[in-house]
Amino acid sequence: MPCRASLPHQVAGRTAACYAVAAFTTSNEGNRVIERQTEHTEYFEFEALNAFPQIVHAVFTRRRGFSTGPYAGLNGSATTGDDVATVRRNRRAVEDAVGLPLIWAKPVHGVRTVFIDRAIAGGAPDDAASLQRLREHLRGIEADAMVTDVPGLALCWSFGDCAPVLLYDPAHEAVGLIHSGWRGAAGGIVPRTIAAMGERYGTNPAEVLMGVGPAIGSCCYEVQANVRYAFALDPLVRESAVFVERTAAGETKPRSYLDVRTTTSNQALAAGVLPEHLDDAGICTGCRTDLFYSHRREPWPSGRFVVAIGMRSNRRTA
Ligand SMILES: [Zn+2]
Repeated sequence: MPCRASLPHQVAGRTAACYAVAAFTTSNEGNRVIERQTEHTEYFEFEALNAFPQIVHAVFTRRRGFSTGPYAGLNGSATTGDDVATVRRNRRAVEDAVGLPLIWAKPVHGVRTVFIDRAIAGGAPDDAASLQRLREHLRGIEADAMVTDVPGLALCWSFGDCAPVLLYDPAHEAVGLIHSGWRGAAGGIVPRTIAAMGERYGTNPAEVLMGVGPAIGSCCYEVQANVRYAFALDPLVRESAVFVERTAAGETKPRSYLDVRTTTSNQALAAGVLPEHLDDAGICTGCRTDLFYSHRREPWPSGRFVVAIGMRSNRRTA
């Protein structure tokens, strides 16, 4: 089925059936995303990244999938109590959609980058046992940014209000996935990751393509003084942060709210990513719990939505 024939960018090589879905993002003016679905998943891609046919990436909504109850839909995480076998089934549906095996380190709301590059992993594991070994190795590594230059693997995490940042350095053929919650953002995780890629590969931020996925906005995320203080320490971080003050009806003192998504995008720009290379999904997870999971806005427990990025393995490497 020529599923992408009518879409702006033709991407070859994906086996899952896919086609444009009812536009769930059109209410967000200016965003540049392309919506897709498979039998058991619904997801979108960023136009900036989609221009590169060797890149596979997806931001999955919660729609479809197999989970039920408070986790209803395509929940990617068993850490909040969903049935482990059902989550595995959801993740297999994700794997089918991206067409690459998923790998993940252990996110801890820190600022560390783990490089899963040729020097460490060699090539992509070519059998189930090697893949399992790599997964077990990564499970013990605490990091909130993953970067790889190995084709044939998809970096993958599940999110529920923290900003997913997907990136690609075409000059050095490396992809990354960042988990940017308030702690990561307060630690400058986006500029730190780009700087780490600069040291490792010689990455130039002006060449990096980036997509910032759904995350909680100032409309939905009240924070206390400690959060504000954490952003005050570093000039780049402080100037990138988007805090909003609002006074609720019947109250006299304003409350503070943080826009995690825009703060994350601002950090990317401050780190040297060009505006024309940065796509922001423009979606607040708290406002759109019909599409995504929100740790802050939904009653406990809730699920986590899945994000993945990798490079196809059937390409020539230098
Ligand atoms: Zn909101």
